[in-house]
Amino acid sequence: MGSSVIKAVEQPVAGRGVRAWVVLKFGGSSVSAKQRWENIAKLMLERMVTHQVMVVVSALSGVTDALQNLTQTVDAAARREHSQRIAARHRSFAASLGSTEPARLEAQLTRLQALCDDPRAPAKDFAWMAEVLASGELCSSALGAAFLNTLGVAVAWLDARDHLTASLAPSASPWARHLAVNCSVHPSLALAKELAAASPSYITQGFIARGLDGHTAILGRGGSDTSASYFGALLAAERVEIWTDVPGMFTANPRVVPKARLLKRLDYDEAQEIAATGAKVLHPRCLSPVRDVNVPLWIKDTQHPEMDGTVIGPSEAGAAPGIKALSWRKNITLVAMESLGMWQEVGFLADVFASFKRHGLSVDLIGSSETNVTVSLDPSQNLLDPDTLRVLCADLAQVCRVKVIAPCAAVTLVGRGMRRMLDRLGGMFAELGSERVHLLTQASNDLNLTFVVDEAGLEPLVVRLHDALLKAGMLGDPQTDDFGPSWLELGQRERTQLPPWWQTRRDELLALAQTDAPCYVLAREEVAKRAAALRQVKAIDRWHFALKANPNRAVLEILAQAGFGFECVSIGEVQRALEFVPAQRVLYTPNFAAQQEWRAVAALGVQLTVDSVHVLANWTDVLLDREVFLRVDLGEGRGHHDKVKTGGAKSKFGVGTDDLAACKRLAARAGARITGLHAHLGSGILDPNHWLEVGLRLLELAEDFPAVSVLDLGGGLGVPSLPGESALDLAALAQSLNRLKAQAPAFTLWMEPGRYLVAECGVLLARVTQTKHKSGVHFLGIETGMNSLLRPALYDARHETVNLTRLGAACTHRYDVVGPICESGDVLARQIRLPESFEGDVLLIAQAGAYGAVMSSNYNLRAPARELTL
Ligand code: PLP
Repeated sequence: MGSSVIKAVEQPVAGRGVRAWVVLKFGGSSVSAKQRWENIAKLMLERMVTHQVMVVVSALSGVTDALQNLTQTVDAAARREHSQRIAARHRSFAASLGSTEPARLEAQLTRLQALCDDPRAPAKDFAWMAEVLASGELCSSALGAAFLNTLGVAVAWLDARDHLTASLAPSASPWARHLAVNCSVHPSLALAKELAAASPSYITQGFIARGLDGHTAILGRGGSDTSASYFGALLAAERVEIWTDVPGMFTANPRVVPKARLLKRLDYDEAQEIAATGAKVLHPRCLSPVRDVNVPLWIKDTQHPEMDGTVIGPSEAGAAPGIKALSWRKNITLVAMESLGMWQEVGFLADVFASFKRHGLSVDLIGSSETNVTVSLDPSQNLLDPDTLRVLCADLAQVCRVKVIAPCAAVTLVGRGMRRMLDRLGGMFAELGSERVHLLTQASNDLNLTFVVDEAGLEPLVVRLHDALLKAGMLGDPQTDDFGPSWLELGQRERTQLPPWWQTRRDELLALAQTDAPCYVLAREEVAKRAAALRQVKAIDRWHFALKANPNRAVLEILAQAGFGFECVSIGEVQRALEFVPAQRVLYTPNFAAQQEWRAVAALGVQLTVDSVHVLANWTDVLLDREVFLRVDLGEGRGHHDKVKTGGAKSKFGVGTDDLAACKRLAARAGARITGLHAHLGSGILDPNHWLEVGLRLLELAEDFPAVSVLDLGGGLGVPSLPGESALDLAALAQSLNRLKAQAPAFTLWMEPGRYLVAECGVLLARVTQTKHKSGVHFLGIETGMNSLLRPALYDARHETVNLTRLGAACTHRYDVVGPICESGDVLARQIRLPESFEGDVLLIAQAGAYGAVMSSNYNLRAPARELTL
């Protein structure tokens, strides 16, 4: 960014009325590169048009560690060397910034050099250490002030120690009084005014304060965030913005759980609980200063300032219960104490806890039963070495039997109203399977449910738990206000950020709804685009559309023109397909079809696929001289719901691998040649390597079938439907199928997707009939239900649902969207956020182009929605 751009922004004149303050905090990596400082300048100037700005900075990255090393160095000469290296780093950075007046920086570096020879150094005096450690922030802020001024930002340097003073903590150790102080801060309008009169913006230091003795003190862990929070409170700021390297707080650590979703809004208590139970993005102690004075705290991504980030503020009145996050802490030690009849022993718990106190150990979680008390020790709160534990156990052994269980992990669900949600956590608990849960606690603040498990296998476990919460709809719906996109989606959005077609064609859809709702609407253009995208996967030699997904003639025409054949499961489908393509492009893959149908379809000359021994053993005359495919059950199913898995022991589809030899023999006896092997394991698969795995298995089996030249890998290509899921990566699919092709050069590869081609091309439009509020649930009734769209009732399928009439309005209400059918299962979407909706509004249910209209019925003698095309 050139400085001319910066200067173009109007800058306020100091002393012009009283304007609200905004506090911005930047961490080490955000102040360690020139371009990052230019970014800081830009953010400051944008805010300075309307606000007073206070910027709080950390030390350059790595500098606090270097200073820490210096404080631990006994030899004065070695300390001086440390100091010179630190000085050289700052000077060369200042030179690279082209700063002209680093006088303040030079003064700080000289002071640091002097501190190396300070008489207090050899004894590692705490006051001396605090002063050494503080120089990191004093230097970075001095350096920043000079550079910002050269960029044309009117900024004054402020010594944080002049405004933040440690509070009196009589029980604090000497160490804590110098190196881990707290400040008590009260809003000061006088100070806010006084500072505003002198300069439109300031830069100050995080991490440091004035100690009670008047010397420099350090705030300790999470220090810079806490400083920003203190300044926010002191200046009664409009908000505090913490600028960091991640987009905000997530429903889980996104580096472990990529489907974790951004939390756009949290109240102070929720944020505090998430931070305290494992999230690293914010230190829990920085929340209370802003909470006490109701100053909102934003977390923003330095690389993506345009993104929402997380806003932490007071809780909304009457906020609905809901889970916000899954967090975890590792390296937890459990101490289980067993005593027979302890409840009869007055003072047992007092004795036990006295031992912990004696050994300086703070207890975190507690679980108890008639004969057992188990507590957890968190390493972040305790200095837990084997010796301390041994002595503690010896002590405790005098009153009970002791067992130490370690290493464990404490996994916590955070959310308001936990007690009212236990019934919806069944799926998540099922995921625990045979995991050993040593302790389970639910805090009375109703914000937290924690269980302690063995640490081994923690990461796959939390991924499964988070998936189960998403699946149960516990972590927000796509259109809620509180939850943003997933980490995966954010990565993907950087590449493509196109709105869905129905958003751009909203007016047309609303007009259609007035005359035709309830109706399905299919966008033909979208079908053509999906087909073209799939055809780019060049390893596939022949594509068949699984016609069952949507037999609409308009769809079939487009796909036939795009070179697709059709995969059919009934004579009706075969006849429909033959309207568009010749018999050679039609594949018949029936399951338990009657002999009569089989014979009739065989007579049409299409490619037959056999999926049972029965056919080969009994209908031999149809098979004579025919080339048939064999559908194989590879022993497992895949897919988004048990009911769409079409493989494995309980599946009615395909021939088991045990029966392949018999099939070979029976086919030969009937005079048929098995020329293709086929497998389709299920629907809604988003793993691009799935079909490679299927292909490799078929390739192996093909060794026993010399006439086989086709491997049909089935369909099942998914589209994301759960929040947090990302689209099937076609480039990765293409790559993985290229590998298959390279391993099976003699074979022709076929595929037969259904859902992928049409799901996102269709929507269901239906008008609101009635609203109802009953037992705490808001129902939004629409004119059609499971008679038109069966998927939610059949597979618990989730479809994005929006109020098309009020598209873009704030989603202030939470609804169960229901149809008019006399079934309790007639629910199209549960607990989704929508704007307040009224009779006559048009709701749009997205991703309804596959297995939608085709599955509808006249149940209740209600005509289902017709399917129209655009
Ligand atoms: N092939 C076969 C044999 C199927 O049974 C199905 C779906 O049931 C498909 C392909 C298409 O599946 P999807 O629509 O998930 O791609």
